Amino acid sequence: MFGNMMHRPLSIIEILRFAVEAHPKAEVVSVRTEGDIHRYTYPECYSRVGKLAHALAKLGVKTGDRVATLAWNGYRHFELYYAIAGIGGVCHTLNPRLSAEQMIYITNHAEDRVMFLDTTFVPVIEALADKFPKDMHYVVMTDRAHMPKSGLNLLCYEDLIQDEVEEYDWPELPEETAAGLCYTSGTTGNPKGALYSHRSTVLHAFTAAISISDGLKEGARVLPVVPLFHVNAWGLPYAAPLTGASLIFPGGALDGASLFDLMDREKVTSAWGVPTVWLGLQSEISSRGRNPEGFASIIVGGSAAPRSLIAAFEKSGVTVCHAWGMTEMSPVGTHGILSAHHKDTLSKEELLDLKALQGRRVFGVELKIVDENGNRLPHDGEEAGELFVRGNTIISSYFNDTEATKAAMDADGWFGTGDVASINDEGFLIIQDRAKDLIKSGGEWISSIDLENIVMAHPEVASCAVIAVAHPKWDERPLLIIVPADVVRVAKEDIDALLLDHVAKWQLPDAIEFVDELPLTATGKVSKLTLRKQFADYKLPDMK
Ligand code: AMP
Repeated sequence: MFGNMMHRPLSIIEILRFAVEAHPKAEVVSVRTEGDIHRYTYPECYSRVGKLAHALAKLGVKTGDRVATLAWNGYRHFELYYAIAGIGGVCHTLNPRLSAEQMIYITNHAEDRVMFLDTTFVPVIEALADKFPKDMHYVVMTDRAHMPKSGLNLLCYEDLIQDEVEEYDWPELPEETAAGLCYTSGTTGNPKGALYSHRSTVLHAFTAAISISDGLKEGARVLPVVPLFHVNAWGLPYAAPLTGASLIFPGGALDGASLFDLMDREKVTSAWGVPTVWLGLQSEISSRGRNPEGFASIIVGGSAAPRSLIAAFEKSGVTVCHAWGMTEMSPVGTHGILSAHHKDTLSKEELLDLKALQGRRVFGVELKIVDENGNRLPHDGEEAGELFVRGNTIISSYFNDTEATKAAMDADGWFGTGDVASINDEGFLIIQDRAKDLIKSGGEWISSIDLENIVMAHPEVASCAVIAVAHPKWDERPLLIIVPADVVRVAKEDIDALLLDHVAKWQLPDAIEFVDELPLTATGKVSKLTLRKQFADYKLPDMK
């Protein structure tokens, strides 16, 4: 027997409509590419979202169409999130830090029809437009006065929406309708798309709001340093209006000093981002000898947060919540908010030990760890295995990618994260290692296998391997280990030149080491584990 309750489809635009009615004074503040600060309330934002929806419809965007964005964190990007999803389109956030090759692949795979971009990225688009899908409309996210000159036919955002009416008759969409698309790096080959729905997005917003309630509440002023092109800034564009929190968007300047000034001026209470940006902010805090005014909490994730970083913030009175998640999970999987009994019974040092773990699962995300045969392992904090997840905010397949889907899902429909973890008897996740051959630098991925395949083409290289070396600022950086084909040791400049045809500059290895042979596993593969142990204390050039 079913219950007798209404069924209203979960809908993204309803979050903003709710904020307009329930939190009309909460703000969206943005550092603009134009160089100034822009601020408005959720009701003012909603009026522009309606106008934008009309403009999108006039550009021919229909249900299911992908609309790309290439932009920093700012109010126009936020408007696009709601207008595109509101009319049934898919907001596809492109990561500007990817290589040209990957951007070309992604826009074609996604079949983007319109691309919205910040002025910053006009040169990028000019170089790539002839490889992007044909007939793409390009809209620059600025006003007429700031439109750059270009050989491309560029439309102007403010011109497009200027004469449109504010009211839009939002369609009632089935809640499974696709709403957002974000690509993530594969171990090798092409990036893979996570296609979020209205349902998964709204449920994720609920989850974030109840799990990370310290930072997300009415009156909070939340700074997403995590970009809107990284898993929807961890869902903040939805969770903040849902809770009545204001959003402070930092634009493109993410260095410690810029963040400090913005946070201080805007009285940011909670800031979200990867460890690398918090290292920058922390050093700014030490040199100024104080915290930005009102600063109460940070949410750190995307890479393991060093215990020393957590300790430094906690010492200055800022609560740190260490979270873990993935693009494929919308992304939040676990969070590190501790229980009252921890605070009552544990010493300061023990509390820090606990905060350095990846925290406990959020409602709606189940975790299991398994051995190589898929057998479940106990949650005893000792046994480690690959971590699998299941829940309504986790992908059931990759977007139009059967191979990648097959590799990721197990027979029972759980998604394999590629992380190696243990879980203790209190439910705390402890990420131990990464089964996927990827390096994470400053929150962005580098594929070791891609680098190896390219380097192998060099005639002076007999074989090679790329491993991650721990780095104090970037978390991990790539080290290239080469077995020379002959006596000649290939120069780093030659390798860099070869790689730069395919990868972005920041993805180049930091150093090359030459060895006589690479260690092998029992099955004859290069043993990355042995190499990582061998080079565990390796100091890259900028660490010496
Ligand atoms: P992404 O899809 O880019 O968000 O990357 C997700 C991956 O980043 C995870 O599978 C982990 O390998 C890593 N990761 C994310 N958060 C953490 C964390 N708190 N500690 C350790 N690794 C993390």
